[in-house]
Amino acid sequence: MSVQDVLKVIEENSIEYVDFRFVDLSGKAHHITLPATEVEEETFENGVAFDGSSIPGFRGIEESDMVMLPDTESTFIDPFTAHPTLNIMCNIHTPEGDRYDRDPRSIAQKAEEFLQTTGVGTAAFFAPESEFFIFDDVRYESGQQSSFYAVDSEEAAWNTGRKEEGGNLGFKVRQKGGYVPVAPVDTQQDIRSEICNLLADAGLRVERHHHEVATAGQGEINFRFDTLTKTADNLLKYKYIVHNTARQFGKVATFMPKPIFGDNGSGMHVHQSIFDGDTPLFYEKGSYANLSETALHYIGGILHHAPALIALTNPSTNSFKRLVPGYEAPVNLVYSKGNRSAAVRIPVAAVTPKGCRIEFRTPDSTANPYLAFAAMLLAGLDGIKNKIDPRKLGYGPLDKNIYDLSDADKAEIRSVPASLEEALDALEADYEFLLQGDVFSEEFIHNYLSFKRDEAKSVSIRVHPHEYSLYFDC
Ligand code: GLN
Ligand code: MG
Ligand code: MG
Ligand code: MG
Repeated sequence: MSVQDVLKVIEENSIEYVDFRFVDLSGKAHHITLPATEVEEETFENGVAFDGSSIPGFRGIEESDMVMLPDTESTFIDPFTAHPTLNIMCNIHTPEGDRYDRDPRSIAQKAEEFLQTTGVGTAAFFAPESEFFIFDDVRYESGQQSSFYAVDSEEAAWNTGRKEEGGNLGFKVRQKGGYVPVAPVDTQQDIRSEICNLLADAGLRVERHHHEVATAGQGEINFRFDTLTKTADNLLKYKYIVHNTARQFGKVATFMPKPIFGDNGSGMHVHQSIFDGDTPLFYEKGSYANLSETALHYIGGILHHAPALIALTNPSTNSFKRLVPGYEAPVNLVYSKGNRSAAVRIPVAAVTPKGCRIEFRTPDSTANPYLAFAAMLLAGLDGIKNKIDPRKLGYGPLDKNIYDLSDADKAEIRSVPASLEEALDALEADYEFLLQGDVFSEEFIHNYLSFKRDEAKSVSIRVHPHEYSLYFDC
């Protein structure tokens, strides 16, 4: 879309406000709104100024002036505002006009530019499956309002230690119905359908939606793959629309990876493949899961760098409460065509040559998608460059039930890091692959490590409810 096209959209839709958005280090969106009458051709050249010092993980106070530069490719009409508003995603530049090296969106774009220089292919495609819970928006008079309590379900109550007194005395419908249950267990079909309508209005091509395995209200909506930065933009739109549609229904949505102990968490499996023009590079008929050598090396790169990569794809302390055995979340750093406890799965059902792809199952939606997609691409490209063969390194393929293996065989299999701190240590020891093509800077990595270490510390110094059951009567 050209600037003229955007100005036309503003006029034709009687847009009153234009919302300029950018993402911070954690992938959260921020915005500044201008009356449409203040938006002209020059706004797209000069950008919109903001104070970068107040954004977590950005600049020091002495160098706070930053500029948002709108990208006309990423606009959508906000479905939630009372006054017609056009949203535009922006890159962050310094006042001197350079791309800010901590801007996640610029990093995503640099990763795509780097791919072009490698000679491997012309485009990398991504498709995330971002799961979420929609809970009743329960507020307690005591002022306690956290996911720990705001779950109106017998099982969830059980899991959080808050059992309904006397059991299910109201003969209520069960809250947990396994994978893809229909109504009345699925109470959220209309919410998801409404979300899908709004996603389509915002330019996403929705492919399906369904209820997920966990207790009342876990859902998933899949939208069509696209190139790296576009998919990250789409994910931002997706999360915004999921959160705010839930709110319109008087509910609250969360993408937190493990809101309920003892039940499935929410992942963000990421499907990925590389094309050279129209040619899919991951497909080779007749080999294991029809995977080409290029795809195998890409997998090799992902698995080899996985402990470090996970610091970007699973960047919260809560992420590691999901990555435990028994809940369809991956724990093993192997690839497989069926095994859902493997970090890399190769979909084989209804897959065409063009649809041949790998699915990295570890990520969750606390990831900043711009950083996570860029890092995955760089890990995969590093695997291709160095011909990292996952078969030679013991990374699979592993199609057996891992729980049935002998202890000696199990000990051979690498696992995901056990905590955010472990993942950060792994990143500190292995970040060279992220510096390829200057996509990430060394300064960025060091800033990221200290930002996330502070976050991990802020959690570890707090008293946990479970500590009372373990230690109170010591
Ligand atoms: N919720 C699971 C996870 O944490 C995935 C379940 C599924 O999609 N089949 O990754
Ligand atoms: Mg899915
Ligand atoms: Mg799922
Ligand atoms: Mg999946």
